[in-house]
Amino acid sequence: MKKVKCLLLISGGLDSMLSLKVLQNNGVSVQPICFNSYFFNCKAAQKACDNLNVPLRVVEIGDIHLEMTKSPKFGYGSAHNPCIDCHLMMLREAKKIMEAEGYDFLATGEVLGQRPMSQNANSLMLIEKELDLVDKIVRPLSLKLLPETEAEKKGLINRDGFYSISGRGRKDQIKLAEELGVKDYPTPAGGCILTEKDYGNNLAELFEFKPEADGSDCVLMRFGRVQLSDDCLMVIGRNQLESEWLENSKKEGDMILIPEDFSGPTVIMRPFRDVEEDVLIDRGIGLILQYSKKVPEEFTVEIR
Ligand code: SF4
Repeated sequence: MKKVKCLLLISGGLDSMLSLKVLQNNGVSVQPICFNSYFFNCKAAQKACDNLNVPLRVVEIGDIHLEMTKSPKFGYGSAHNPCIDCHLMMLREAKKIMEAEGYDFLATGEVLGQRPMSQNANSLMLIEKELDLVDKIVRPLSLKLLPETEAEKKGLINRDGFYSISGRGRKDQIKLAEELGVKDYPTPAGGCILTEKDYGNNLAELFEFKPEADGSDCVLMRFGRVQLSDDCLMVIGRNQLESEWLENSKKEGDMILIPEDFSGPTVIMRPFRDVEEDVLIDRGIGLILQYSKKVPEEFTVEIR
């Protein structure tokens, strides 16, 4: 008999780990899939899959995720997180793989009502309609609370083997983890830098000043103290580690300023309009002085 196989979008959190186990316990062959972007990575998913002894498939979506983040059709969450569009994008990519490679259905670890913006019943339905995936996504943890899926109608799975978990609490999932022997799961944490307010504010400003901002700009802003003007992105290291990281992040056209004979931060300047070199140097030195505790009367700054 042909084995039922599905593609499961996995983040590495407890919900996706449980979903994987539940599907396996229902006789489904599960291929977990994770998306890698400038704003999040697959480290947690990799760890979860190692833990569950299932190979993970990683798909790069950095550039399409970045372009979507600049003007999402369904707007942003509480920070600069375009969660509905992001879910749509990931499911769209997964759908392409499902259709091309003959998987029977898609599955996610989503729990009804867990996230107010992207996981209420309306959002889940909206996402399915947008992608022409109505009834085609299996959500093992909330399946019994949702309309019958195509996989059930075709007899590929039976809803008796699934769950009716909903809401933001974690009690049901922790209990289920004990029952299923799922251990070493991460405590709930963002994982996506777009949900961080400061980063989100900086990103919004960057997109305003530099609509053509690329992945390396988004990555550069992940560490250090960020300042933006309408012609330049500036990042100031807050400690030795960040200063070293900034030095290694330099790309063509960037200017790096490093205090030579006193203790102060490294500054990287990335102009995105024509800015005179002297003006950049003055600004960079100004930032070093602003964030240095003790500056001798005479000092040297290395400029690269
Ligand atoms: S938190 Fe980040 S990765 Fe998750 S759906 Fe929202 S934008 Fe996408």
